[in-house]
Amino acid sequence: MSLNQTPPPKPGVLDIAPYVGGRSHAPGATEVFKLSSNEGALGPSPSAVEAYAAAAAQMDRYPEGSARTLREAIGEAYGLDPARIVCGNGSDELLTMLANAYLRSGDEAVFSEHAFLVYKIATLANSAVPVVVAEKNRKVDVDAMLAAMGPKTRLVYLANPNNPTGSYLTSEELRRLHAGVPPGALLVIDAAYSEFVRRNDYSSGIEMVAEHGNVVMTRTFSKIYALAGLRVGWAFCPAGVADVLNRIRGPFNVSFTAQAAAVAALKDRAHVEAAVAHNEAWKTKLSDAIRALGLGVDDSVGNFILVHFPKTPGKTAQDADAFLLTRGVIVRQVGNYGLPDALRITIGPATANEKCLAALEQFVRGA
Ligand SMILES: *Cc1c(COP(=O)(O)O)cnc(C)c1O
Repeated sequence: MSLNQTPPPKPGVLDIAPYVGGRSHAPGATEVFKLSSNEGALGPSPSAVEAYAAAAAQMDRYPEGSARTLREAIGEAYGLDPARIVCGNGSDELLTMLANAYLRSGDEAVFSEHAFLVYKIATLANSAVPVVVAEKNRKVDVDAMLAAMGPKTRLVYLANPNNPTGSYLTSEELRRLHAGVPPGALLVIDAAYSEFVRRNDYSSGIEMVAEHGNVVMTRTFSKIYALAGLRVGWAFCPAGVADVLNRIRGPFNVSFTAQAAAVAALKDRAHVEAAVAHNEAWKTKLSDAIRALGLGVDDSVGNFILVHFPKTPGKTAQDADAFLLTRGVIVRQVGNYGLPDALRITIGPATANEKCLAALEQFVRGA
């Protein structure tokens, strides 16, 4: 290879379609209502903002590398051993680190059809093979997942609840899935939206991590805590997995200011409760109102809803998206999740929700 040729990356890397986040601009609109990235509707806890500002004075210092204070705060809030918690620069980083640590070239990672795109990216980046399993009515099909696992399976990724479908596996279904995970494979439960779930047959998977050596659960401060811009996530792991992640993570992977804000956010329980209550009320209101317009809306346990559109020219999901954009309302197309006829709408602040509903109404009625 000559010196002016660019060397190729590892096999798999160029098969990755770069992740494209939710848009944040609506050209021409005077006011923008961003409902495209499932960010927390109420914004961060004021005490998190205060802690962040106070921490700024120490930005010349490296953070404590293992995020000890934050791990202890998480441990206290959830009743977990801080030694088995690993913090990440967003849970994306932890999901990627798990792939980096466990996937060799040719190994298989199993996940479902409409799963979070990061799983596929992390798998391909390690020259491993994504095994994508069909869902049933936009819900993870446990039997099909089990049938797809084999001796080459090293990771099984499950978002529970899933984004963008909003569906979930019950704790019983989760246990059935786990029971079939082959030896040598890890089950990774991505519970990014678990705080929003209000169903008594759901569990985030914490007990499963406590009971088994092959289950990891990841969580995030990006959604209910509304700290998406700071990038903080955490994983609760078997001791052996925590040890592995601590060997490969960047030495200072979570910034000092982010750690401080996350600790404060965790302590503001009232803010979390308010966010859950807001989400429940608006999710019901929006789902009912959009169904009344004649559009299909899936039941969602997260902080977003999936709305289905007809294929009729002028009435499609793409048409609706473009129309909403002219009104300053930004939602998410989910074609790259295998859902070309749907839009995902985040449950946002009241004004944004109202604006979105009014615009959808205009769109459907053909104003
Ligand atoms: C938003 C989201 C995350 C969180 O990502 P962060 O990197 O923590 O911001 C993880 N998994 C799913 C399914 C998500 O939708």
